[in-house]
Amino acid sequence: MINYGTAMELLFPTRCAGCGEYAGRPLCPACNASMPLIGGPACIRCGTPYPHEVEECQVCRDRIKHLDATVALAVYEEPLRSVIHKLKYDNGWRLAPLLGAMVAVRLAPRLAGKQPLVTFVPMHRRKRRTRGYDHAEKLARGVGQALGLAVVTLLERTRYTQAQSALCHDGRRSNVEGAFRAVNGEAQGREVVLVDDVFTTGYTLCACARALKAAGAVKVTACVLARDMLGAA
Ligand SMILES: [Zn+2]
Ligand SMILES: [Zn+2]
Repeated sequence: MINYGTAMELLFPTRCAGCGEYAGRPLCPACNASMPLIGGPACIRCGTPYPHEVEECQVCRDRIKHLDATVALAVYEEPLRSVIHKLKYDNGWRLAPLLGAMVAVRLAPRLAGKQPLVTFVPMHRRKRRTRGYDHAEKLARGVGQALGLAVVTLLERTRYTQAQSALCHDGRRSNVEGAFRAVNGEAQGREVVLVDDVFTTGYTLCACARALKAAGAVKVTACVLARDMLGAA
């Protein structure tokens, strides 16, 4: 007699988002164990790992504005790179509760008992229509659910911007500058956790943090799955 779980697995086998093997779960034990986690000290503001914790570093001193802190789960390497690709495409939003809970574990000690609002870097509505969902929103809901925090849409993307990955360093800054605005007054006087998938140059997160601060947010903490160290160069 075949049980329900086995039947579901036969009908809808779950491949591991990291290695693509049939694992019956979103992430196989081997991929879970080989996540390039950032476990040690890092720059508080931009999340770059260092031998000692620092308030800000040479990477972020001049260019990371409006963003007060960054929490990153891991470095942007395999298998996390494949997992994030899966999250963004192929209806991989099903991975969001698991990934949100994983980064929430890193975020929790930084909250110091506060109850920030959780929000996300929004897609342009045209892109969201074609994609079908906003992966950063799904991830934010995973973070909020894990920590019992309210998830609120606080921002909208006012311009249809090019993918940051297609641009050079200076192009990335101007591409997102002024591309976001606050959509309601809920950020006023609040601490905000801003969720996205990857922190590369940080310009997108800074542009969002700027709009949140303009709307009265008192502190903005970026919460990302991956810190792409290429952006730190
Ligand atoms: Zn795997
Ligand atoms: Zn830094």
